[in-house]
Amino acid sequence: MENINVRERIAGCVADFLNIMSKRLPDDVYDRLCEMKEAETLPSACSVYDCMFENIREAVRLDRPICQDTGLIQFFVKAGAKFPYLSEISGALEQAVRIATKKTPLRPNAVLPFDEKNTGDNIAPGSPWIEWEIVPDSDSLTLEIYMAGGGCSLPGKAVVLMPSAGYEGVCDVVLEAVCDRGINACPPLVIGVGIGTCADSAGVLSKKALLRKIGSRNPHPKAAELEKIIKDAVNSIGIGPNALKGKESVLDVNVEFGAHHPATLAVGVSFGCWATRRGVLEINRELNCEILSHKKTLEL
Ligand code: SF4
Repeated sequence: MENINVRERIAGCVADFLNIMSKRLPDDVYDRLCEMKEAETLPSACSVYDCMFENIREAVRLDRPICQDTGLIQFFVKAGAKFPYLSEISGALEQAVRIATKKTPLRPNAVLPFDEKNTGDNIAPGSPWIEWEIVPDSDSLTLEIYMAGGGCSLPGKAVVLMPSAGYEGVCDVVLEAVCDRGINACPPLVIGVGIGTCADSAGVLSKKALLRKIGSRNPHPKAAELEKIIKDAVNSIGIGPNALKGKESVLDVNVEFGAHHPATLAVGVSFGCWATRRGVLEINRELNCEILSHKKTLEL
């Protein structure tokens, strides 16, 4: 297949998926929202959930994004070392964003620092953002995609602690971030926590934690325990849906970690909102696409 056709095929497939992602929640987020709505008892919080579910239904009915804040796309690429079109991926992803910005439409959100100009098509240095991982022995391409909204990105932070701060220090960083700006992220929140050596690696790990499925637990029992401790602590504040009080405030807390230097303990925190728009798309070597994250919500 000619490379130009390959690029167009991948771009078209990804643009179609961006369109779906902007208008339908992933299955795990939808299921957890249903569970939280069922469990809620405070009348004002129940009304907020009613509004959210009406929003979800209307987005499908009117074929419009669930939330207008759509244009900044982050791709976490797992590229099989044997996928035959590795050199076409970056160009195809950029093209996909350009197409989806026009067709869906996604809101132009990419503003160039220093010039302070919106590029108008969501294409700029760092937009779309692409993180790479090469998977040995695989011949397919898996894209984990995140639609980064402003409100949910606002409370994010990464700091480097003295190791003596311990895991209590990690909890403090997360709770401070929640209390400072968590309400800007349209709760209930998905909270991704990354632990590592430097601010940059902890930040990336926190976003990867955010991409992990709701309800999954870190396989390390102590990391899983930390997920529960943070979740209970944030729920105890009583923020509730859209920060109007309520029984629960958290869709889930996921922790990912890498080694930390003996002299540092870096913590990154990333937030997702009630309308966390993320998805997983797999493309095989024949360029057939399969959506892995939206099965149930495609039927709504
Ligand atoms: S936090 Fe989420 S729901 Fe709120 S404005 Fe941003 S993207 Fe939309």
